[in-house]
Amino acid sequence: MSLARRHSLTVTVGAVRVGGPSPVVVQSMTNTDTADVEATAQQVKSLARAGSELVRITVNTSEAAAAVAPIRDRLDQLGVSVPLIGDFHFNGHKLLREHPACAEALAKYRINPGNVGRGSKRDPQFAEMIEVACRHGKPVRIGVNWGSLDQDLLTRLMDENSARAEPLDAREIMRNAVVLSALTSAERAVELGLPKDRIILSAKVSGVQDLIAIYRDLASRCDYPLHLGLTEAGMGSKGIVASTAGMSVLLQEGIGDTIRVSLTPEPGGDRTQEVIVAQEILQTLGLRAFMPMVTACPGCGRTTSTYFQELAQRIQSHIRHRMPEWRRSFDGVEDMTVAVMGCVVNGPGESKHANLGISLPGTGERPVAPVYEDGEKTVTLKGERIAEEFQDLVERYIERKYTRRQTA
Ligand code: SF4
Repeated sequence: MSLARRHSLTVTVGAVRVGGPSPVVVQSMTNTDTADVEATAQQVKSLARAGSELVRITVNTSEAAAAVAPIRDRLDQLGVSVPLIGDFHFNGHKLLREHPACAEALAKYRINPGNVGRGSKRDPQFAEMIEVACRHGKPVRIGVNWGSLDQDLLTRLMDENSARAEPLDAREIMRNAVVLSALTSAERAVELGLPKDRIILSAKVSGVQDLIAIYRDLASRCDYPLHLGLTEAGMGSKGIVASTAGMSVLLQEGIGDTIRVSLTPEPGGDRTQEVIVAQEILQTLGLRAFMPMVTACPGCGRTTSTYFQELAQRIQSHIRHRMPEWRRSFDGVEDMTVAVMGCVVNGPGESKHANLGISLPGTGERPVAPVYEDGEKTVTLKGERIAEEFQDLVERYIERKYTRRQTA
């Protein structure tokens, strides 16, 4: 929308464009055993349905590599066209060589230059993966991770640093090594014949300040699209806050062409949460719109019952549940704003700024809930069915205000 983006090349991944003028792409990763075709296909499907525009799967064994083409077929059967990315470490060269159907079914390969092989094996194994990418016409993400940083490179930089009259601190060297690993690996891939517009870079770390410094440096030194994300962001609010803090600073500066929020799921938690958080980061920054935003006040001593929280949650879930259908049927519905407010203090004011707003009765207020549509009070709800009636109003508002898409 309004923020200036850093200039970058455009890389096409399946039917999705990453970089250049394209909107920032949301991606995610499965945590099923890739060798389990049905479980992986179902998880990819739910990530895609939640809004993931690219989905990465680990390809770590021969069984996993053999499962990739059947997973693609199963997704096609299910009507899910999301491009699949293969995540390779250690044995990627061998798996890609021995499983051409896997190499073909994937829309992109992720190669970690720190994990392609040690010593004299590193260069030929990296070259073999790039050659497969060239042969199949696939793009590659060169994904550096500080947890698996190229140790030879790091040692060399540390040695050079200690020979300096005024050595830099070790953290600075680590940051330089991460950036250098990404840039030199990309350079080598180009020398091996991979076109520049088939390369995406990432350089993931787990500290927010490191992430910001590294990506600023990377962005100023190349025009490859950048995949943004913290590695090992963590669980629950810690992971969400860390990812949001780091990525928002960079996205605000126009840095980042695709993002992934690497949340550790709660036991039994829903993997799609990482997609929702990624969308919310982009939408909150005003970079993309995915679904109507619900503004809700935090509640306070004026809302002593749980009714207000329940209603806000219900409206939010209703919108999320209905959005796939609305998106198919109506143009622009994702830009709608809804306000759910707890009392008369800010309720009417905030409701008037939203497309549709409801101001619930606070403690001691008359048990009525005025509703505002585009700034005008249209109806006052009361009684036991305020939630259902407000949901109906949302549906009717969408029908009235947004143009129905033409179906073929
Ligand atoms: S709108 Fe009312 S209930 Fe909500 S936080 Fe403000 S004063 Fe409290």
